[in-house]
Amino acid sequence: MLDHTHDVEAKSWVPGADDHAEFPVQNLPLGIFSPKVEQDPRGGVAIGDSILCLRGVARLLTGNAAEAAKLADAPSLNALFTDGNAMADALRVGLFDLLTDRDRASEAGRMLFAQADCDLFVPFRVGDYTDFYTGIEHAKNVGALFRPDNPLLPNYKYVPIGYHGRASSIRASGADVIRPTGQTRSAEGKPPYFKPSARLDYEMEMAIWTSGSNSLGQPVPIGEAASHIAGLSILNDWSARDLQAWEYQPLGPFLAKNFLSTVSPWLVTSAALAPFRTAQPARPEGDPQPLEYLSDEADQASGAYNVEMEVLILTDAMRQGGHAPHRLSIGPMTAMYWTAAQLIAHHTVNGCNLQPGDLLGTGTLSGPDASSYGSLLELSDGGKSPLTLPTGETRTFLENGDEIVMRAHAVAQGARTIGFGECSGQVVG
Ligand code: MN
Repeated sequence: MLDHTHDVEAKSWVPGADDHAEFPVQNLPLGIFSPKVEQDPRGGVAIGDSILCLRGVARLLTGNAAEAAKLADAPSLNALFTDGNAMADALRVGLFDLLTDRDRASEAGRMLFAQADCDLFVPFRVGDYTDFYTGIEHAKNVGALFRPDNPLLPNYKYVPIGYHGRASSIRASGADVIRPTGQTRSAEGKPPYFKPSARLDYEMEMAIWTSGSNSLGQPVPIGEAASHIAGLSILNDWSARDLQAWEYQPLGPFLAKNFLSTVSPWLVTSAALAPFRTAQPARPEGDPQPLEYLSDEADQASGAYNVEMEVLILTDAMRQGGHAPHRLSIGPMTAMYWTAAQLIAHHTVNGCNLQPGDLLGTGTLSGPDASSYGSLLELSDGGKSPLTLPTGETRTFLENGDEIVMRAHAVAQGARTIGFGECSGQVVG
């Protein structure tokens, strides 16, 4: 639903917010921050280059917005989303009215912190993390490396494929990437090597954060699933391809994935994303229709997102030479074969219970050609075709010192563009 908080003409009294590429007043993403000197994590909202502290702001709001600000005065956003999105929606309206009312600048301005002086954290206490595989071009590309004649397995167009990941190793943007050591395949009939991964990779994904909950045994119907989406962040599902290739059969990813996953620290809420909802792309001719429990007309009409995702690399040599980060890819989130609502309906159809702050990864999102491939595995064709960077260096997989920066922006005609901030990480060896 669109309301006055999406008005493209709206202006904030916070310096720099109106021209900000990520956080104008139409965005108002929620996160957990602490001033570096205090180490006291609590809820905040990004506005321009600042963070408005929700602790101090509760007394400037009224009704549910004030109650919501109190719920967000915690080291995670879980309590704010316990009963769904209603409290966060009220908070958005209250904050928008506060941040656009010049008469209130002096009282609220005291609760602004410079983002540069703050640490940012994972926005939720993550109970469970599930990673899906909705990027059909990625699934085809990776499948083709292993099965050139039959890249997509027969279940792909019926089942939103996923696996349960690990919550304890999820970190906010900026966490060091420690190269994992493990078993990798050796020559046929020989025992495996045990060594640091030589095929360390990233995966460009989006994080879908859940709100509310369903009781064990009670599926969320597809028509209600969208109301369980708190919002989105960027997700980098760091992956060790050599460990993965040796361990993944028969039970799927394990140590190749659970050494670290990085999220951008700001939750861009479902309310903020309302102007950027779009139709789910039609399935290609000949593809089966989804089963009944995954079919919903309204979801097909507006269940996808107009979000552009970008991956950049900065190597040690680029840093030393004063080079800007080099873009590896840019592509649309509509590369998802399944909508976020379909993922929630599928995840719960067997009675599995979701909880507030569960993290659902979309899977690597790649477009149809190399300019939009979301991993080095694809960009280097399985390590066979090295990429050349502006310094003349080449890469198949990540070297020590390499930093990967992911960005994303929601863009739609007639709407103010909003950003997700950054999801970055440097390989420290
Ligand atoms: Mn993944």
